[in-house]
Amino acid sequence: MNSTELNRRLDGTLNDDIDRHYALTLGRDEPGGSHRYLYEALALSVRDRLVARWRQTRHQLREERPRRVNYLSMEFLIGRSLHNAVLNLDLEDDVRDALQQHHSDLEDVESEELDAGLGNGGLGRLAACFLDSCASLGLPVTGYGIRYQYGMFQQRIRNGFQVEYPDGWLRNGNPWEFEVPEHAQRIRFGGHTDHYRDGSGRHRVRWTDTYDVLAVPCDMPVPGYRNGVVNTLRLWKAEATEEFNLDEFNAGSYTDAVQARTRAEQITMVLYPNDQSEQGKELRLRQQYFLASASLQDVLQQWHELHGPDFGTFAAYNVFQLNDTHPTLAIAEMMRLLLDDYGLEWNDAWEITHNSMAYTNHTLLPEALEVWPVSLFEHLLPRLLEIIYEINARFLSRVADRWPGDVDRQRRMSIIEEGPEPRVRMAFLGIIGSFSVNGVAALHTRLLTSGLFRDFYEFSPQRFNNKTNGVTPRRWLSHCNPGLKALLDDTLGDGWICHLDELARLASRGDDADFRERFASVKRANKARLAELVWERCAVEFDPDMLFDVQVKRIHEYKRQLLNVLHIIYRYDRVLRGDTDTLQPRCILIAGKAAPGYAMAKLLIKLINNVASVINRDPRMKPWLRVAFLPDYNVSTMEVICTGADLSEQISTAGKEASGTGNMKFMMNGAVTIGTLDGANIEIREAVGESNFFLFGLDADQVESQRGQTDPAALIDGDTDFSRVMQLLESGHFNMLEPGLFRTVIDSIRDPYDLWMTAADFRSYIDAQLAVDAAFADSEGWTRKCIANTSASGYFSSDRTIREYADEIWFRKGHW
Ligand SMILES: *Cc1c(COP(=O)(O)O)cnc(C)c1O
Repeated sequence: MNSTELNRRLDGTLNDDIDRHYALTLGRDEPGGSHRYLYEALALSVRDRLVARWRQTRHQLREERPRRVNYLSMEFLIGRSLHNAVLNLDLEDDVRDALQQHHSDLEDVESEELDAGLGNGGLGRLAACFLDSCASLGLPVTGYGIRYQYGMFQQRIRNGFQVEYPDGWLRNGNPWEFEVPEHAQRIRFGGHTDHYRDGSGRHRVRWTDTYDVLAVPCDMPVPGYRNGVVNTLRLWKAEATEEFNLDEFNAGSYTDAVQARTRAEQITMVLYPNDQSEQGKELRLRQQYFLASASLQDVLQQWHELHGPDFGTFAAYNVFQLNDTHPTLAIAEMMRLLLDDYGLEWNDAWEITHNSMAYTNHTLLPEALEVWPVSLFEHLLPRLLEIIYEINARFLSRVADRWPGDVDRQRRMSIIEEGPEPRVRMAFLGIIGSFSVNGVAALHTRLLTSGLFRDFYEFSPQRFNNKTNGVTPRRWLSHCNPGLKALLDDTLGDGWICHLDELARLASRGDDADFRERFASVKRANKARLAELVWERCAVEFDPDMLFDVQVKRIHEYKRQLLNVLHIIYRYDRVLRGDTDTLQPRCILIAGKAAPGYAMAKLLIKLINNVASVINRDPRMKPWLRVAFLPDYNVSTMEVICTGADLSEQISTAGKEASGTGNMKFMMNGAVTIGTLDGANIEIREAVGESNFFLFGLDADQVESQRGQTDPAALIDGDTDFSRVMQLLESGHFNMLEPGLFRTVIDSIRDPYDLWMTAADFRSYIDAQLAVDAAFADSEGWTRKCIANTSASGYFSSDRTIREYADEIWFRKGHW
């Protein structure tokens, strides 16, 4: 059946298909009652409509043979897929009609879908936004990732503490994936290498006595926005090899054989829940190699099937974008496959490898930089280690040619970090093996080239470039904010969804009273929707007439939820003292997960909850201040939260947040930012204008130069507001029954070497917050600021980001 015939089979109504899937595929009786099976039947019916386009896209790729992009990422934080597919296929009206006949609505049915939470936070969500933009721009991009059996843990709060539960997102099945066992790949671990000469006297290497695991692809369709394109996200799952089981079985150990299966499957069992930190766990390195090897074997095999052993033009037709250092083993693995499996010479293999690899750096935080012990490589990936040594030796000899005698520079630039426990620096492997290295916001890229990667920048400056992150306006505006979407469509037509710059035409609408009115009433309805969510999940009453002040993101010291808490306590103290003249009533929402092993972050959650509970229990606070910690922050909750915020808290220590993308979602949906000069905040402020952004705090250079020079005790004593806040905290006012619980938090504020400069930024943060109150008191002026933010958010579409990747990295003219 070709695509046209496939399509013809689908000319029945969506409603017929839902009934058919309900009765035949799912084997259920009369629809009605169960949203779950209705969701499944609808998902299958929508999926049917993706399949023909999917095949068409694959066919077109084979015909046109463009340069193909492979986006390798350990994380894809997808969220739900149903509404996205419905929106991109333009099926919304049909679906609503069909569901009406089942006495149901889309909102109820879609809430049955469990989030695909295959990522920690920003990095994984970026990968998901990128796939949507690539498909919507019609670019030939395949995502490669891991199909974790358990995604990001579910967070619940018990007595104020975070408790983690497994995320069994596959328990009801997954209608969006297609297993492709015929494309399985064999992944090797352990063993040792044999060096020998082949028949023609050439030096060859065999990697033997390995423990092998199968990588089986599960493909998910990635529909473009109303353009007929459906790209692929290929997620690998681990399975035991057949022979392995058989060997064990023949040896008479049936149960061992079954256990071997479990051991193999462990590789893709669970997502590591650490954001911005690496624990150096062996299983994590296994996962990384598993992804790199399976994906490369897949691409090279497809090439080999079409072109045979001629890899001469491979790099002209293939590029790999590595999402952080996690998949940079791909560089060494590509060399291994070309040398050992396909018989190429080193120089040819290296030419192909470094011309097809591009690396994106996501962080400057030392604790997040991946370094793996050489000893771990020796026993897990011995062949890869040999190749890394060879890459390093050849690279360092070029450094020596360029700077003769500069031994210190060679030591600094070596992939191998010397010391009692020598380690492999994955970022350096990423730089040396790639033709492009990019940061994710202007400041971040500047800090990379002037700091962490300075030596490499001096060696080859042309390799470095910036690609400021973005988010997809399909999910983060059109889908999540139907009220604003309708207003925008009405005002601008619907072209903005794929050309977000068109939002700039709203700029003059700030002066239009009628438009302001409509914009404000959309915001108000979204605040009511958010208040409902907060009530359901936290039993805290949020009043849509009050200012909604929101900080949602992973809990981390550098993101400074602590600074937010200090401001909450400041506000509490003022209301207690009846000093409310310059205050506006506020509802403050905080949400986010802490890495399960990150004690300080978990303690911050407890502190937030204790402060919230003292405040919410006090009737004097009710008119002025309400605080909620919303559990289990994920993509689906963010879809509600970002539309209902008035104020977006982006208050990281300057120089620490590479870009941020939460900041962009809030801006698009008409929230005003209070923030530091960090990451993309800088570009947001430039775009919207300084009068529509509440700036505070040290900048990145000041943070560097004042480190260890600040005197928190003096700052506290010299500021009566700060003293009062610390007095409340230190007196145990928020932990009456838990004495001493917050000692480490308090100590960190008072530490002159506090890396996060909380005390140093306290005063200017409070002043900026008071400026927010003053601005919010003028509701017309505030609405103007909100409109200005939405209007200036066009630059932060991931379509713009992806066009830049395409023009300047993937398909750069003259590069080939
Ligand atoms: C956008 C998003 C993030 C990233 O937020 P930041 O504020 O940039 O850290 C993290 N998690 C989820 C669920 C998101 O949607």
